[in-house]
Amino acid sequence: MAVQRCIEPACGATFGLNERLYVCSLCGGLLDIEKPCELIGEALALREVWMTRLASPDTSDRSGVWRFRELLPFSDNAPIVSLAEGNTPLYEAPRSARYCGLQSLKLKHQGSNPTGSFKDTGMTTAVTQARILGARLLVCASTGNTAASLAAYAARAELACAILVPQGQVSLAKLAQTLDYGAMVLEIEGNFDDAMRAIRELAEDESIYLVNSINPFRIEGQKTVAAELLQQLGWQVPDHLVMPGGNLGNSSAFGKGFRELFDLGLIDRLPQLTVVQAEGAAPFAHLFARHEQYRPAQDTPVKLTVIENPQTLASAINIGAPVSWQKAWREIVWTRGHALSVSEQEIADAKAIIGRDGVGCEPASATTVAGIKRLVADSIVGKDENVVAVLTGHLLKDTDYVINYHRETLYTSDHAEGKTETGTRITGTFANHPVRVSATGDDILKTLECEQQQRKLQNQGK
Ligand SMILES: [Zn+2]
Repeated sequence: MAVQRCIEPACGATFGLNERLYVCSLCGGLLDIEKPCELIGEALALREVWMTRLASPDTSDRSGVWRFRELLPFSDNAPIVSLAEGNTPLYEAPRSARYCGLQSLKLKHQGSNPTGSFKDTGMTTAVTQARILGARLLVCASTGNTAASLAAYAARAELACAILVPQGQVSLAKLAQTLDYGAMVLEIEGNFDDAMRAIRELAEDESIYLVNSINPFRIEGQKTVAAELLQQLGWQVPDHLVMPGGNLGNSSAFGKGFRELFDLGLIDRLPQLTVVQAEGAAPFAHLFARHEQYRPAQDTPVKLTVIENPQTLASAINIGAPVSWQKAWREIVWTRGHALSVSEQEIADAKAIIGRDGVGCEPASATTVAGIKRLVADSIVGKDENVVAVLTGHLLKDTDYVINYHRETLYTSDHAEGKTETGTRITGTFANHPVRVSATGDDILKTLECEQQQRKLQNQGK
């Protein structure tokens, strides 16, 4: 039988799947869901059935999550809540590859999910579990993407939901989505970490089901992205998988996904997982820097130091106390991966470059390309290695940021919040200004010629 198991090595307590828990009731440790390999199936048969489902019109087969349902801890008659999530594109990104100094780079765009972020792949399973448990009110704290995702899936399931967001720190696009899907939105005084602390006080209330990334059923849905990616790659394991790090649920999920596929014999090695954070919100990268020298064994106790006042314009990862850090740490150690941080300027420039590949993403996602550029420069990633970067949110999730970058009016968060008058301006290295012209063919042609000339010179320079 599949169970929920406490990840603390000294505890390891197990609980039934339908016990309404968020953490271990004995020691407070995070919970993993464990499904024995023999209940999942045989590698070759799985590959075949997953391939066959790509051509199936069935709702659960059309979902990029439920298509891999053998990996999930649900029975065949589970009341699935789906918006046809997953099935996200894997793009070849030559412009970004050149920028990083790589021969090639692939972008797995999780921002192409129904609500524009990777959160949907975990929300479909968490809200399905909520239905199984008979929950009436779903609640989460969010920097914005989880809010939009939960609101959509709760609406789909006809369940009430409430969202706690840090006041004034969520992009308007994400707030707009959440309101449109009908969620109750509660704005909390403070930052995301304060909202998260407040929400933990609600865990005891029987009428409420918490759907934060600490909820192990969210990780279950998100882990299927590993299978989808490998299927797209013809089951050739990339050397590196690089993703942004905020609350670290996504890194945990990718790690779990790859390990399970390895245990099942679907792959014969693991990619190295790398987590990239923004400099002003990088507790996990700091932890890695402290322990990098001696590469700790799997069970060496390590302690994350919380960042009290995290600051980054990449609001999706503006998190100082990531709840899933122990799980993510485990995956980094198991795969001999890395964690690092990049500056606001590096994020902004990398984001513009991803845009030039015709792909685009929200700021947090661009930490990946910025991080890969660093890792290549430091010879940690080889120029000819196979690298996949995970983009977590859609370009339109934060249009203020984009417009300000291209107008060269993008300032660091201190300035944005009016705390200092001298907030640092981000240089628009790849800025793309709109140009004013009069409504005459002559003027338009003249301007176009001039613009094209300038771009030619710019491209030669870079
Ligand atoms: Zn425990």
